Amino acid sequence: MSGSSCSKCENESCSAKNKMNNETAAEFVDRQKLKQSMCKVKHKVLVLSGKGGVGKSTVAVNLAMSLALKGKKVGLVDVDIHGPSIPKLLNLENVKIFSDDQHMYPAVHSENLKVISVGLFLESQDDALIWRGPRKFGLIKQFLKDVEWGELDYLIFDLPPGTGDEPLAICELIGDPDGAVVVTTPQGVAITDVRKSINFCRKLNLPVLGVIENMSGFICPKCGELTNIFSKGGAKEMAEDMNVTFLGNVPIDAEIARNGDLGTPFVCSESSSATAAAFNKIVEPILNLNKRS
Ligand code: ADP
Repeated sequence: MSGSSCSKCENESCSAKNKMNNETAAEFVDRQKLKQSMCKVKHKVLVLSGKGGVGKSTVAVNLAMSLALKGKKVGLVDVDIHGPSIPKLLNLENVKIFSDDQHMYPAVHSENLKVISVGLFLESQDDALIWRGPRKFGLIKQFLKDVEWGELDYLIFDLPPGTGDEPLAICELIGDPDGAVVVTTPQGVAITDVRKSINFCRKLNLPVLGVIENMSGFICPKCGELTNIFSKGGAKEMAEDMNVTFLGNVPIDAEIARNGDLGTPFVCSESSSATAAAFNKIVEPILNLNKRS
């Protein structure tokens, strides 16, 4: 490890500047390498959900792609180690990851979008990883420290549902995330779980950037009529009640499901649809994080 940017860095207050008493020389080098890699990323955003199947990965992929389409340099980390779906959603299933002594090279989806996922290391997409906490922590650390991300505007993390080891690992490893986007569906059971996710963020001092209500009503592709298959508006009410920002609704849209199966983010192929317009509004506050830096 060269340590070049750390040795050149003039930020005297950086926690990686000096070796701590309780760490070995190797641990110090490791910590500096992680810091060097993460220092090159302007904004880090976690995508969370209380439940599986609410469209969290779909939101993560389309958020990353929207930012990339707007000219931002974006990395997407699939932290869902037991159920990685990002390779499928981005049609990267046959891509293999290269590495050398120093680095792993992320999959390059398109000009501004780089991706890493445990799914890119599996022999077959049907393989399952049965890993416990410490090994998962080690893998997540490798994704942050050893992957050659380069300079990025955004690093988006697609986390597994719930309040487990993975979001804790991310917060511990990167230290200063901008915050979390929490995805839910309108049904009462999902809203109950999302309240837990928000309380979890609060315990971790992780800012909640906002809540998205996905699968929020169905717009008939033939007549345009909106049918609220599940109840609607629960996430907005909950967000107000918990004093967090409501980012917006995404309807149930057959094109989202079709594009997911094809591995094309719907913001690319359906860029003029009402759903893409709704999604773009949701992305705006994330895009405006720039204005704070
Ligand atoms: P999660 O990450 O929460 O488990 P996914 O993003 O994998 O959920 O989405 C689950 C399934 O639902 C996928 O097939 C996806 O294409 C589909 N899906 C997600 N959001 C929508 C939506 N708004 N309209 C239609 N299908 C959707």
